Amino acid sequence: MYPQVLFRNRKPDRIVTLDEYRAGGGYRALGDVLRKRSAGEVCRVVDEAGLRGRGGAGFPASKKWESVPADGAYPRYLVANSDEMEPGTFKDRVLIHADPHTIIEGMILAGYAIGASKAFLFVRPSYESSAAIMERELRIAREAGYLGRNILGTDYSLDIVVHRSGGRYICGEASALLNAVMGKRPNPQRPPPYPTVKGLWERPTVVNNVETLANVPHILRNGPEWFRGLSRSKTPGTKLFCISGKVSRPGCVELPMGTRLNEIIEEHAGGMAPGSEFKACLPGGASTYFLTRDNLHAGMDFDGMAAVKNRLGTGAVIVFDRKTCLVGATLNLMRFFARESCGWCTPCREGLPYMRDLLERIEEGEGREEYIPMLRLMSRQVWNSYCALAPGAASPVESLLDHFADEVHEHISQKRCPFKD
Ligand code: SF4
Repeated sequence: MYPQVLFRNRKPDRIVTLDEYRAGGGYRALGDVLRKRSAGEVCRVVDEAGLRGRGGAGFPASKKWESVPADGAYPRYLVANSDEMEPGTFKDRVLIHADPHTIIEGMILAGYAIGASKAFLFVRPSYESSAAIMERELRIAREAGYLGRNILGTDYSLDIVVHRSGGRYICGEASALLNAVMGKRPNPQRPPPYPTVKGLWERPTVVNNVETLANVPHILRNGPEWFRGLSRSKTPGTKLFCISGKVSRPGCVELPMGTRLNEIIEEHAGGMAPGSEFKACLPGGASTYFLTRDNLHAGMDFDGMAAVKNRLGTGAVIVFDRKTCLVGATLNLMRFFARESCGWCTPCREGLPYMRDLLERIEEGEGREEYIPMLRLMSRQVWNSYCALAPGAASPVESLLDHFADEVHEHISQKRCPFKD
């Protein structure tokens, strides 16, 4: 059995109540921090724990908090990002449905660390049940004195509201998300200024993924050493891994950082589905590279994935079997990314639909050999885009051509998809 931190209270059929959360030590860290510790101490403990962002980029949480200038303006804001639209990723939803108060306590503690008086929980609109759960539990937390004015009788006040996203993938990108909260068109914006200096309404704003924030109460209650000891690698803590595709037990599991990919698939997802044989997987969601059997020994953390020229991303493992057409699978992803381009810059706006069309023709038996170098060229060109959406979208295409070129050539030479009857 592996240490369960975020899922320690998880029930098979229902949401953990406030009383159950408290019975397990919940909100103890909050009382302790607000009465005895300074904001700087909270940052220091989280820094010593080595908590890195769980939304994909892996930036150290404490460094982001500390980049809010000490003499920065007020009010300050915190945003918990749960705009979870990366295909294959559903960990935030599972977490909200398992133990919402661990997220609420984490948000209050992070808000205290940066001096925020208002926080937003930014939720994907199709997660209406998650939004409703959080609104209900926020009300319960408020009535219990954990939120609002003078939390637990201290000087610190914070309130949290749920903000439903407009429903586009790019709304989950931090700078686009801030535009969305302010009611503007959600185009990404490159720093400077950094949001921690000028974010929402030009005030310091920190955006963290909800999984990142949910770790904070546990770190403050148990200490940095404990958190570091949970991991099997240099990246401290545990990670929520979403597993989908051709496995026997798809789902979301909490495992130590650095758990090997083959263990995740073979043990925690019950192995391949009956009658299927492993071909490839996307280890960290739809914007990572296909990974073959040769690299299944890799550890699932930032360094382990970098060692096999891949990315941990959101930790969403999507497994494909021998009978799955990877041209078709890549085309599906490219249809998604081309649709979700915000249209701000030309390489992405024009390049992704172009790549989608080339893949579509190959999949439909109308492909030509020259499409392969064209796809390679476009995969490189879209790296000139303004934000990370387009390079992320190109990742499966590049690795399709690197590892499964035979499959692409077969489509072209046979003038049909060899996986279709
Ligand atoms: S890369 Fe795509 S999503 Fe990002 S700014 Fe450019 S058009 Fe928008």
